[in-house]
Amino acid sequence: MRISKVVSNIQESPTLAITARVNQLKAQGKDIIGFGAGEPDFDTPDDIKEAAVKAIKDGKTKYTPVGGIVELKQAVCDVVNTEYGMQTAPANVIVSCGAKHSLYNLFLTLFEAGDEVILPAPYWVSYPPMLEIAGATPVIIDTRTTGLKLTADQVKEAITPRTRGIIINSPSNPTGMVFDKKELIKIAEICIEHDMLIVSDDIYNKIIFSGSEFFSLASIGPEVAERTFIIKGASKTFYMTGWRIGYCIGNKDVIAAMSRLQSQSTSNPTSFAQYGALQSLTGDQSIVGVRAKIFEERRNLMVSKIREVPGFSIIPPEGAFYCFPSVAGQIDRFGSATKLASFLLDKAQVAVVPGIDFGADDYVRFSFATSEANIIKGLDRIKEALTQG
Ligand code: PMP
Ligand code: GLU
Repeated sequence: MRISKVVSNIQESPTLAITARVNQLKAQGKDIIGFGAGEPDFDTPDDIKEAAVKAIKDGKTKYTPVGGIVELKQAVCDVVNTEYGMQTAPANVIVSCGAKHSLYNLFLTLFEAGDEVILPAPYWVSYPPMLEIAGATPVIIDTRTTGLKLTADQVKEAITPRTRGIIINSPSNPTGMVFDKKELIKIAEICIEHDMLIVSDDIYNKIIFSGSEFFSLASIGPEVAERTFIIKGASKTFYMTGWRIGYCIGNKDVIAAMSRLQSQSTSNPTSFAQYGALQSLTGDQSIVGVRAKIFEERRNLMVSKIREVPGFSIIPPEGAFYCFPSVAGQIDRFGSATKLASFLLDKAQVAVVPGIDFGADDYVRFSFATSEANIIKGLDRIKEALTQG
């Protein structure tokens, strides 16, 4: 059967594919240690589950407004108004089926053929295909030479008359880097000067480690905020990956246009999931900090274990739950990080994601959304497999 050109060009999400492969191998009884999954291993907190169950019991099982229930939009506004010092109202918010869906709606609404969108690499795997579906061209800035952090000078160099916007994801998936406030302020000035839109994917902003501070461009002031679209979600902050709730906050005309698009595709995100999400934003938040600390302890452990592996070197992540070491010291032997990852799966029974799909072919990604026991066991196996040859 003929497949349309747009869809023929789409590759399966490699992060989801690796997670599926690990689950398949485990189901066959194989003792695989999975560092592939980009999802917290923690369960969704009980109060959130109970709020969703109550919503079902109360008959909140029908369509809701396309862009989400107003109470949830208001709760999102309360968070950004307090944390970013913004002045948003429900008309500035749309709730979609996961942050992935928020980004998809946003890219289709903002970008089109002929537009260039600046994307710092290493980048999250789904940005380039989503931009391409919209017809836009990702313009990649390689940050491997600047310590995996984007600089304002790099942005300046990438600008052309076709530049329409830039994607900022800090803390970053896959690097865990938190971009410097000073550079972000300079980047914001460039965006104003060149009339560029800013997509600020802040999905990991609650997972930040000691010594680092999250800074969102939207908090600089109204002149930047009005050209910024903030992406947030329930998946990472509240361990709700399966619930599929994401948010976009920004200019109300664009939000209304995204809502029109959503009305012709998914309609509203699942009704009772929205009530669970409402509880996540309005209930006790203390678990978020407690679990961020656990992630930090795992980060420390994983970084020290990665440093024992020959040919691997790492800049410690400052947030999120990924380690992204360079494996340049093993490329001569294996030919590529992709081949190294296959070797590790076959020989050490450890799954990692090769860097190529993040735009860094001499790196691999490890998720530390797993137990300390798994981190120790998995990295010991890798070290042994690479030492033995
Ligand atoms: N942005 C980034 C940077 C991500 O890593 C992810 C993947 N979890 C998403 C957005 C989408 O998350 P979700 O669709 O689960 O809300
Ligand atoms: N974003 C997560 C990851 O990078 C989840 C998988 C996905 O949505 O691609 O692994």
